[in-house]
Amino acid sequence: MIRSVNLALSNRCTASCIFCPSTRGKRVPFDMPLSLVKKIVDEAASPAFPWKVDAFQVGENGDALLNMNFLEILRYIKAKMPTAKVYLSTNFASWTPQISEAVLKEGLISNITVNLDGHDSASYEAEKHLPLTKVLRNLLGFLTLRRQLDINIPLQVLVLPLTHYVELVLRRFGNPPGKLTSSTSVPESSFGQVVAAFKPLLGEDVPFHVAIPMGWAERDHVDPDEDQSMFPCRNLGRIETEAFISPNGDWYACCYDDQQLITFGNLNEKTLLEVHDSDKRLELIQKLKAHRYRDIGYPCSTVKACQAMSAIADPNRRDLKWFLRCLYRKFLQHYPTTRLAYSSRAINFLGGSY
Ligand code: SF4
Repeated sequence: MIRSVNLALSNRCTASCIFCPSTRGKRVPFDMPLSLVKKIVDEAASPAFPWKVDAFQVGENGDALLNMNFLEILRYIKAKMPTAKVYLSTNFASWTPQISEAVLKEGLISNITVNLDGHDSASYEAEKHLPLTKVLRNLLGFLTLRRQLDINIPLQVLVLPLTHYVELVLRRFGNPPGKLTSSTSVPESSFGQVVAAFKPLLGEDVPFHVAIPMGWAERDHVDPDEDQSMFPCRNLGRIETEAFISPNGDWYACCYDDQQLITFGNLNEKTLLEVHDSDKRLELIQKLKAHRYRDIGYPCSTVKACQAMSAIADPNRRDLKWFLRCLYRKFLQHYPTTRLAYSSRAINFLGGSY
């Protein structure tokens, strides 16, 4: 069953965040053509398609705004599937007043997420290598127009300060983050400092959440030969109900496969339904359920890096929060389109495993 489609509209990104793999977008480094998006949307919208696709994530594995057809793509989805939710994660570096106007007036996006990972230029830029002033200008422009037009497209802020990330990686892997060089400065910052610095600017109606990262940028710290069979595939529920499409049309395993290495078929040549039913996809799901990661190969052979980096990600721990996480995972499998709307609140409450 497919309920949601994740489109990597671009594999590029102007940021270089400490928590994103440096290999991301290196294998398929271009943008998704409009013709391919139309083919996918047409098929999902067709009355002959067996399931109701009710969500698109357009910021999958890159910054969608770098796709020159970004607005045209959103308009096409809206025209063909007006009830489908459209979710976007972006760093706002490439956001423009024209995009604000189109997105708000035409209702092109259902929910936006942005990371603000430091409370000042030094801490933000050390983590993301993006100019904070430009990001804030674009973000404030969007929020100002949103207030003027009184159109509530929800926007939420996730926060993952560099100091916190370094601490989590050291604790989990025993090594500093792979992207951290000896000359990288690690300016102090915290969730509280970020909220104190930006909440008055952005407004009370913008929620801030602690981001709980997983270790996908730290796969080099994991030995594929070490026994990892105790770890679950964190995306199994999504893999069963969602499609992950790279810019060149490959349907790939999941969003943590940043190089889009495990592929099942190409949508330039096949239909969504054909790839959904392909032996390769069904075989992967069976192997993931059986925790046969070594048989699958990279990146699943480093499944330890697919786990959230928080204390309760220990798969042997069984407590009330573990029980609630199981319930929450079941809930996501049945109602996957609510995932983005509620995940941050749930993540905060549950301590960050999902
Ligand atoms: S084990 Fe493989 S499929 Fe599962 S989350 Fe990791 S990369 Fe994705």
